[in-house]
Amino acid sequence: MTATAMLVDGPGTAAELLLVDVHVLDPRTGIEARHDVRVRAGVVAELAEPGGLECDAREEVLAGEGRLTLVPAFFDPHVHLRTPGQEHKEDLQSGTRAAAAGGYAGVIAMPNTDPVIDSAPLLRSLRDSAAREAHVSVGFLGAITRGLQGEQLTEMAELREQGALGFTDDGRPVQSAGMLRKALQYQRLCGGVIALHEEDRTLSRGGAMHEGALSAALGIAGIPTVAESTMVARDAELAGYEDARVHFQHLSCTASVDAVAAAKARGWRVSAEVSPHHLLLTEEAVRGLDTRMKMHPPLATESDRRSLVEGLRAGTIDCVATDHAPHAREEKEVPFEQAPMGTTGLETAFAALYTELVLGGVIPLELLVARMSAGAALFGLPAPLIAPGEPANLALLDLDAEWTAGEHGWESRSENCCFAGRRLRGRVLATICAGALVHRDRSLALIGAG
Ligand SMILES: [Zn+2]
Ligand SMILES: [Zn+2]
Repeated sequence: MTATAMLVDGPGTAAELLLVDVHVLDPRTGIEARHDVRVRAGVVAELAEPGGLECDAREEVLAGEGRLTLVPAFFDPHVHLRTPGQEHKEDLQSGTRAAAAGGYAGVIAMPNTDPVIDSAPLLRSLRDSAAREAHVSVGFLGAITRGLQGEQLTEMAELREQGALGFTDDGRPVQSAGMLRKALQYQRLCGGVIALHEEDRTLSRGGAMHEGALSAALGIAGIPTVAESTMVARDAELAGYEDARVHFQHLSCTASVDAVAAAKARGWRVSAEVSPHHLLLTEEAVRGLDTRMKMHPPLATESDRRSLVEGLRAGTIDCVATDHAPHAREEKEVPFEQAPMGTTGLETAFAALYTELVLGGVIPLELLVARMSAGAALFGLPAPLIAPGEPANLALLDLDAEWTAGEHGWESRSENCCFAGRRLRGRVLATICAGALVHRDRSLALIGAG
């Protein structure tokens, strides 16, 4: 199966669209100018100077008025769509609607569902469901070990043949170095990426927040950052030793960023992601015991947060991934220590990062846009480009729009978003996936056909 075929497109039909006078910003082609853009038959058909494209009677027109910004759609290599088995939290439709609302044209779903996606027939039926129900393109990872139990490897080659982009036991670490080593040896034979949730459970020991002065003051069991960073260092070295390809999920602290930098400097084939919440929040957010702020790995210190931002800026961290982790209201409305880990993130990622990091003068917009779609290439998929003949995966942004996260509810079935109630700048007005208009904000008027 080709890499592109491993991504399942939903049933959306390609539209005929004319985007008039939009500010096109594509960090990979280097375009940064006002253009008219024609989308037809699933691809970017034409680019021209404003006023350069005549509107065809069949086309829907999106007016950019020289004010709206068109970027390559975002790609999230780490989401939990919760299906099969936990559809009260999320499913393929609601999760991919949330993705579309966030400007994403593609996501990669984690296999820690019920049952776990640890066999080819399970993956096949999930891919069939995605082809019927998904609003954006969806790729899947299979489990590394059966049932995420850490004891027996899955049939990795069969999962690959069935379209797995790679493997992960996310939600859990691969605690045994010997087990991971075997997985890396198979990975070299069958391809795909091994994505790792790094947590030494003999160190995290059921903790509920970052270990430090605040956890001591609150009387909550802490998780030390070394629970993550020692595993990143161990597994980077294993990847180097086996010449295998490893991706580190949701980095949260300085020592992990340093370990990834050291691994890259040695030429080991590693990559890494960071979440919007780890880039923007610290353990201080936990002080009020709001369970939306409880996630794994836990929010750490301000100096960890700064290291993550610098890692993303410098490219030590390759991409942004939301680790969108929906939970039902009643599951989160319990005392902090009992609440499940995770925050939703697809619908707020761009605006939250744009507001704090771009408007805050920390990183430029083109870098944020690049890092928000870099996850595709890490998993062997083509990077989205705004160029004639390329698949039309596009996000139309209003960078001036101000909104409050959650004010109109959520597309996700769950509302456990750590940014809920925040005043944000920058809004995704439309998302185009493989030429289909999969999201249109209520504020965006289509100027009819023709
Ligand atoms: Zn995880
Ligand atoms: Zn996760």
